[in-house]
Amino acid sequence: MTMSWSWLATVLVAAAVGASATAGAQGSRSITAAAAVAEGRLTAADREPDQWMSVGRTHDEQRFSPLNQLTTQNVSRLGLAWFADFDTNRGQESTPLAIDGVLYVSTAWSKVKAFEGRTGQLLWAFDPKVPGQFAGRGCCDVVNRGLAAWNGKIYVSTYDGRLIALDAKTGRTVWETLTLDHGKPVTSTGAPRAFKGKVVIGNAGGEFGVRGYLSAYDAETGKLDWRFYTVPGNPADTHDVAALQAAAKTWSGDWWVLGGGAAVWDGIAYDPGLNLVYFGTGNGSPWNREYRGSGGGDNLFVASIVAVNAETGEYAWHYQETPGEQWDFDSTSPIMLADLRIGGKARRVVLHPSKNGFFYVLDAKSGKVVSARNYVPTTWASRIDLKTGKPVINPAARYDLTGKAFIVQPGGQGAHSWHPSSYDPQTGLVYFSAIETSTAFTAAPTFKPAMMAANTGLGAAANADELYAKSDAPRTARSKLVAWDPVKQKEAWRTQTLGTIGGGTLSTAGGLVFQGTTPGRFVAYDAKSGKELWSMEAQTGVVAAPGSYEIDGVQYVAEEVGYGLVQFGQSNHSRLLVFKLDGTASLPPAPPPPPPPVLNPPPSTASKETIEAGRQQFANHCATCHDTSYANRLVFPDLRYSPMLGAQDAFNAIVLDGGLQAAGMASFKGVVSADEAAQIRAYLIERANQLKAAPAGQRR
Ligand code: CA
Repeated sequence: MTMSWSWLATVLVAAAVGASATAGAQGSRSITAAAAVAEGRLTAADREPDQWMSVGRTHDEQRFSPLNQLTTQNVSRLGLAWFADFDTNRGQESTPLAIDGVLYVSTAWSKVKAFEGRTGQLLWAFDPKVPGQFAGRGCCDVVNRGLAAWNGKIYVSTYDGRLIALDAKTGRTVWETLTLDHGKPVTSTGAPRAFKGKVVIGNAGGEFGVRGYLSAYDAETGKLDWRFYTVPGNPADTHDVAALQAAAKTWSGDWWVLGGGAAVWDGIAYDPGLNLVYFGTGNGSPWNREYRGSGGGDNLFVASIVAVNAETGEYAWHYQETPGEQWDFDSTSPIMLADLRIGGKARRVVLHPSKNGFFYVLDAKSGKVVSARNYVPTTWASRIDLKTGKPVINPAARYDLTGKAFIVQPGGQGAHSWHPSSYDPQTGLVYFSAIETSTAFTAAPTFKPAMMAANTGLGAAANADELYAKSDAPRTARSKLVAWDPVKQKEAWRTQTLGTIGGGTLSTAGGLVFQGTTPGRFVAYDAKSGKELWSMEAQTGVVAAPGSYEIDGVQYVAEEVGYGLVQFGQSNHSRLLVFKLDGTASLPPAPPPPPPPVLNPPPSTASKETIEAGRQQFANHCATCHDTSYANRLVFPDLRYSPMLGAQDAFNAIVLDGGLQAAGMASFKGVVSADEAAQIRAYLIERANQLKAAPAGQRR
């Protein structure tokens, strides 16, 4: 804790004076405590356009700021107001909360910081001290996607699955509760949502093998209120509710052994009018449905949007976007709610650009699909049949155990993932990153699940080169910013390729859309035309979604920067950047990228069989962080360059004995045997020698 309450009180009083001046049309309010938000303020968030009180700004999660000081005319004058360096260089995926003059920010490793919103003065910092060992339990870095606020408290869900309530004034823990089973490879990365005195949060881990659920806790005490499982349990000893007993009919075999998947790791939205909570569920686990006892069934509620009663957690409806899912098509991307006129009728709808490449409009009350259209090429399904509500799936895309590979578009990375979308009611358009990508899917001939391993049941397609030679599918992901009309189900505009993954977006009433890029720019576009109006070099990849707030009549835009997966030749500088008109702060010059790593492997002497065994072990345990297809990563090293390849002892000191655990490289003791560690090293030595032998221009 870096400051006293009296200092903060001064800040808050000053902020309150400024805030009430700008929100005067709606009447003044008195600030009696930090983060004094509850049902009334959150439900009427549009009456306080200067605030950003929940991760998606309003319960509708449209990420549209009604502030209009920044416009298409003046955004060229946007400058840095202040910035704050983070004490972690892992991926930053969170949108700050801005409440009564204070910015609350979560970072990688589930750390939380509070800043004075005008100056960037650090008010307090909280580190939940997530054990480094947990880094090995998730697929995609130790990220955190945001916070919730309720009645003077700030809530964070930590990577190791603790839901923690912090005193918004001091950052001290009020209560803490474990939401996960630490005996399972399960993590938590999403933002909690608060409503009706409850805080809800899900879990992650569908790549490793878990059973998904959403839990609601009492916001004051941390006591579990209700929990909704997304996959039926073992029918022999289940206490499942009726909806799950019905869902069990869409499964066969022993799906519960690996959990079935459907992790609720990101999108959640609350509708106070309908008293429903909506959430997206992840992929089936393992990916290859032949290995999860699917029996060719739909496997409910995998890859679905589910709605439950907000008070009780009781099932209301579900819509399954990808029946019998087997391509890592999580339905977890952020969910937005909107009131639209469709076919001359006012409709309350759920808007969902899904990872499977289709944009869905669902009726918010019934879950019935109103319309759906693909926004990227989709080879797994040609269209959504609105009569049945189901996709018309291409049977060839259903890779089975016969060993045939198929190029699926979009690929496992998906056409759109956790990167939040925004909806501008003025243009009627949804702005989101659309990724053209593909994967040559094929089944592993045999599959044995392992703890702390990517349990996908996929194999390597031996004929991938041949298949791609006959296909126009992109092998490298290309992300574009797309403006989509959800009423017409039609694209209004799209940018050129901006990188491999596009960042989350913010729309503002000044006619602007803000988005970051993985190559490291933060950009403002004209929301109507897609014309680029302003940009700045962020010195690092940008993937988080920005937010906007106002203090003393000045509009700010706040954006976390820092991309855990670093591109070649780029360093990672994780920071919070805050902008305003005519801001004059400047970043220190970026240090030159570190010199290229030295490739110095010992000769490759292992047998073909050992190298192949090592390839499989690497795919299961290492590739999610150390995959080499992204070229050099400076946060997750390309292990072909590792000096540890020189000696098995040195290699084991890290892989088995946890020598770099504090830095987030988990010990794989008990997961990988000493023999398997030797196989992995043999595989990496072989790969390193292949790289060394390649002509300089073709090294990848
Ligand atoms: Ca997934």
